[in-house]
Amino acid sequence: MMTTGGQPSGPVRVRFAPSPTGTLHVGSARTALYNFLFARHEGGVLVLRVEDTDAARSSRDFEESIMADLAWLCLSWDEGPDIGGGCGPYRQSERSAAGVYRDAAMRLLEAGKAYYCFCPQERLDELRQRCLDRGEMPRYDRACAGLAREEAAARVAAGEPATIRFRIPDRDVVVEDIIHGKVRFAGDVLGDFIILRSDGVASYNFAVVVDDIAMDITHVIRGEDHLTNTARQALLYDALGAAPPAFAHHSLIMGPDGGKLSKRHGATSVGDFRKMGYLAPAIVNYLALLSWSPGEDREKLTLTEMGEEFDLARVSRSPAIFDIQKLNWLNGLYIRELGPDDFHGAIGPFLGEVPAQLSLTAGQLAVAEAAVRNAMVVLTDAAGLIEDFFVMAPLGAEEDSAEIREPEAVAVLDLALAAVGGLKAADEFSAADAETVIAEAKEWLSALRQQCKERDIPPKRLFRTLRIALTGRTSGPEVPYLLAGLARETVSERLRAAREFAT
Ligand code: GLU
Repeated sequence: MMTTGGQPSGPVRVRFAPSPTGTLHVGSARTALYNFLFARHEGGVLVLRVEDTDAARSSRDFEESIMADLAWLCLSWDEGPDIGGGCGPYRQSERSAAGVYRDAAMRLLEAGKAYYCFCPQERLDELRQRCLDRGEMPRYDRACAGLAREEAAARVAAGEPATIRFRIPDRDVVVEDIIHGKVRFAGDVLGDFIILRSDGVASYNFAVVVDDIAMDITHVIRGEDHLTNTARQALLYDALGAAPPAFAHHSLIMGPDGGKLSKRHGATSVGDFRKMGYLAPAIVNYLALLSWSPGEDREKLTLTEMGEEFDLARVSRSPAIFDIQKLNWLNGLYIRELGPDDFHGAIGPFLGEVPAQLSLTAGQLAVAEAAVRNAMVVLTDAAGLIEDFFVMAPLGAEEDSAEIREPEAVAVLDLALAAVGGLKAADEFSAADAETVIAEAKEWLSALRQQCKERDIPPKRLFRTLRIALTGRTSGPEVPYLLAGLARETVSERLRAAREFAT
């Protein structure tokens, strides 16, 4: 039996190793995040390694989009294909071209720990089917394991296609996992797997181990779908004479129905969430908390805070259920935390033509932005909310809005109309003045409130009447924001229209 799991010595080095065969999935982003947080916590190094050995499915476009998404999430790496480092190259295609995997396979071959296999694909397919028919895990029957080395070498030299298979030692493997504890695998079910295909391309398990050794990786943190691979990889470390790293396999993200999070549940890639108006700090905060918590019920943490607190031993083993409501809640918190300039910059791309279509001045837009912020969950909400801020619903369309026909409401409209000249006009203020103009509108409103008080009109009546007159709706943005944002001309027009409607 062999057991992995000694505490690696030396500086912590972890890696995130995406295959550039698609865009960055939130599940992979979570793996990257855990590696990033662990590296930060330990003062270690995060390596970005691109696993592009599957030439047909890999592309540079996907590689670039994955790197752009990681950068957007602020998950920076210390070594990688773009910035280099002491253990390059950082793309497996380049390592393969440099002969890194072939050399390692040859070493195992010479030591008798691997052998050439000449079995044609049809035979392997039949074998596989036979195993499945018997209800067994498909496993190579070692037909070529006993070939004399010279004979095999001669066949290869004569040009016969051959794969190289790893000779699985006959013993159980126990993986000591930081999150799962001891996980035992029976050696005989693993089968002599291929490490180098006949076209010279290394298999995933082999390339990963050769690279993790060459890159001095001390901790492998990845999804638990790789646990069975880890058993094979542990044997390869041993065969290559290297100490295995520590392993931590985190749970996978599940949809609300308990199935693995996939397209049928909706958005799955980081890019999808970005386009839907989620903020990067909200996403990383949410992903970290899916199966980890710093304790004391703390739920809102920055990347730096998470890096300080992160502890693999506190990562839960239970499946992580993706809860969009919680992500929405966090996103709203982060939106409200943005300063006015950052907020303006963040929603800009989501507003499209709305400000131009409504002919808004920069000052009006700034007031509306301040008004709608609290009602937003995602950045894409901004356009609709800003439209509703400026475009009124027809008076009377909402049943309750008919209350502006009542005598008290009519009195409010008359008082407001008499005072409307005291408001700023739209072209009289800039974005920088927005706060001041809102404060002035508040003062204007308190003066009106005083006049109402003298006439025994309750404040609630004042606010409701103005909101209905200015928006056609009984709920919505706070009245001082409406007064400031709609500005003198529109406020006055709408008050007059409401007064007419009331008669
Ligand atoms: N390229 C592998 C993947 O994307 C990496 C697995 C590992 O971390 O070893 O699943």
